[in-house]
Amino acid sequence: YYNENTILYVNGEYKKATAATIDLYGQSLHYGYAVFEGIRAYKTAEGKVKIFKAKEHFDRFKRSCELIHMPYPFNNDELIAACYKVLEMNNMEEAYIRPLAFCPPNMTLKAASETHVLICAWEWGAYLGEKLLRVMTSSYQRPNPKAFKIESKTAGLYVNSILASQEAKENGYDEALLLDMNGNVAEGPGANLFFEKDGKIFTPPPGNILPGITRATVIELCHELGIPLEEKLFTVDELKTADCVFYCGTAAEVVGWDSLDGQGFKKPWASSLGKLLQQAYKARVLEKEFDRAAVPVV
Ligand code: PMP
Repeated sequence: YYNENTILYVNGEYKKATAATIDLYGQSLHYGYAVFEGIRAYKTAEGKVKIFKAKEHFDRFKRSCELIHMPYPFNNDELIAACYKVLEMNNMEEAYIRPLAFCPPNMTLKAASETHVLICAWEWGAYLGEKLLRVMTSSYQRPNPKAFKIESKTAGLYVNSILASQEAKENGYDEALLLDMNGNVAEGPGANLFFEKDGKIFTPPPGNILPGITRATVIELCHELGIPLEEKLFTVDELKTADCVFYCGTAAEVVGWDSLDGQGFKKPWASSLGKLLQQAYKARVLEKEFDRAAVPVV
């Protein structure tokens, strides 16, 4: 993720990653009381480095902090400018950008009175790989919204994601699928879910998921491409009757599924609406025109 030349941004200053320090007596380290974002920069068709939906990511960063009572004294335009500067100082064009809001020393369980911020970046390929995913229904549920602010990207919540991913790996799968506390399909450890059935696209509504920025982009693309879309709750049994399923997220982008609990889906990925949306998403982040009519029908 970094080497001796890597530069990061911390509290208004640009520093060498190897020289930056953090106090070990803080709530962020001890209790997972921190907030993060995951953002991607792309080199667009015009050759410019562009951070995809930077404003939306920093709006969520702010909301995530506010939801868990971390003060937010930052100006998002300045933080976005800092992201571009970090990319430039590290000679990066396509990168994953990680802002993190954390707390100064304090070992109590009282809400933070001050927030620090860091922004780092590294080059990261498709997070879940390029291959279709073999997914396992997790024995872990997503955190109950009555126990956490689940719409906040709070660091500590990600222990749930780590447990589910690890369980899937130990059982020989690529990734996990988590249900909500009522047994409906929620999302992946770090991605939202969509499925195709009879020419229509479905996705769980907000409530028990992180409302992803990629999810919002896929919904926009469905509207633009005239693909019918419905947000609704559904079970694993219904998901198993899908024509195709895919995960989407900033790090993972759009990635199709091979199977769920060893059972495949009706359509080959190559001829699915998922694949069409995967191509449309790639075009959107690269600011390329996407002409559905030009996509060969497989
Ligand atoms: N759900 C969870 C639990 C996530 O961690 C992520 C990744 N941030 C997503 C969904 C997808 O969100 P986004 O598209 O904003 O990256």
